Amino acid sequence: RKIQIAIDGPASAGKSTVAKLVAKKLGYIYCDTGAMYRAVTYAAMKKDIRLDNDKDLNQLLQKLSIEFVPANPEQKVYVDNVDVTKEIRLPGITNNVSIVAAQSSVRTDLTKRQQQIAQAGGIVMDGRDIGTTVLPNAQVKIFLVASAKKRALRRYKENILKEINTPLDVLEQEIIERDYKDSHRKISPLVQASDAIEIDTTELTIDEVVREIMKIIEN
Ligand code: C5P
Repeated sequence: RKIQIAIDGPASAGKSTVAKLVAKKLGYIYCDTGAMYRAVTYAAMKKDIRLDNDKDLNQLLQKLSIEFVPANPEQKVYVDNVDVTKEIRLPGITNNVSIVAAQSSVRTDLTKRQQQIAQAGGIVMDGRDIGTTVLPNAQVKIFLVASAKKRALRRYKENILKEINTPLDVLEQEIIERDYKDSHRKISPLVQASDAIEIDTTELTIDEVVREIMKIIEN
């Protein structure tokens, strides 16, 4: 029996890291919905579309292809057949994506695409509104949280590997601001689904979080 697993939570709580590992263990598809919002933001910036212009974004989306391509060690993200896997993680995208994600036509369009991806079979999907909006009937819903300090520290360590040198306190501030925007938008804000199980990862290792989620799935 293949099921749907929704993993939501604030920025840098470790969602994608554990979602990927859980998907691998189960032989399921992994869908990173944040990458899709990032992809739209990237395309809009390339085309000089105002990031709060719902109408122009809607038009952009009519023709925009966003694809996940399996690869080792990480799946790749293609926008209109161009590999943007690295670009969509740059601070210029990260700090603007919440504006795009608040536009109604963007949410409607990407939600549909995500629901289509989930049709394919067993799926682990991570984001902000998966348990509440995209897959409200998911059999397993996880809400990952961690202190802002810990999340900033994890992001800081990742950034070093990518040679990005944003100071720790700036990262923490950016994370807090992004969570605020994501939690306060009108459409499908970041909020824990009433039937989601919360896991605080502040003091947990990746393996411990994965084990906890596997226990919940097997129950
Ligand atoms: O998960 P990630 O940090 O890559 O997400 C980037 C941004 O995309 C979030 O800050 C949020 O604005 C938006 N997002 C969303 N709904 C989702 C996933 C991401 O609004 N399901």
